[in-house]
Amino acid sequence: MMSGPRIYTSESLASSTTIALDDQAVTHLVRVLRMKKGDDVRLFNGDGSEYQAQLIIESKKSASASVTHAIRQDAPLKLEIHLGQVISKGDRMDFTIQKATELGVTDITPLTSERCDVRLKGDRMEKKLEHWQKVAISACEQSGRNTVPVVHPPKSLSDWSSGIEADRKLLLHPHNQKPLVSDQSPESIALLVGPEGGFSDIEVTQCQEAGFDGLLLGPRILRTETAALTALSVLQYVWGDFR
Ligand code: SAM
Repeated sequence: MMSGPRIYTSESLASSTTIALDDQAVTHLVRVLRMKKGDDVRLFNGDGSEYQAQLIIESKKSASASVTHAIRQDAPLKLEIHLGQVISKGDRMDFTIQKATELGVTDITPLTSERCDVRLKGDRMEKKLEHWQKVAISACEQSGRNTVPVVHPPKSLSDWSSGIEADRKLLLHPHNQKPLVSDQSPESIALLVGPEGGFSDIEVTQCQEAGFDGLLLGPRILRTETAALTALSVLQYVWGDFR
């Protein structure tokens, strides 16, 4: 039987080992949830498995977990999806990363483009990237996912679209009338989603030259975060693990 809150750790996990918990996990388990010595926790580190463990509390600020056994393993993903998302404003990017993780993406690359309003550099970008990776980890804790999508360092749209390799490359673009056809079953997809201001004509042409097919999601203009989640749901239904 598996029980207890799910916690991510960067430590290696194996039966009959003890691992130190990081400050964030200790605060959550000991201070917020007020858990006691011997209480059950479930651990994952992104290797695809979840492990049962019991809490060992050393002090208010320090705790470890005694791992007993692996309890479950994620089925291998049917579809690798690399989401290229032009960086959106405020907490919209967090929302997209959280929901994309729940919907099973394997990789996310935040992109800059001509009409991208967010300009982050140096330290601020490093911090943002760390924050986005944490958003993905929290979404894994909550959704029961034992693999963690990688949030890659930001790239320009042209670098990403010209370098990415995938069986199928899709560009979400409202002015492109090419529907999604499901005659082949790709194992990997690169999905490119634009900013609130959309792509410029030059960007669309460059992406098409790099092998991206346009995908239209109906007659309405969707907000960038709605577009990403809608496309991911459709792709998981047609080629992935929704059925
Ligand atoms: N005025 C912009 C334009 O005409 O491109 C609208 C951009 S829309 C708010 C933001 C992004 O979501 C777009 O760049 C596109 O990637 C995606 N998107 C929105 N609605 C879509 C639709 N119906 N079909 C395909 N992609 C869509």
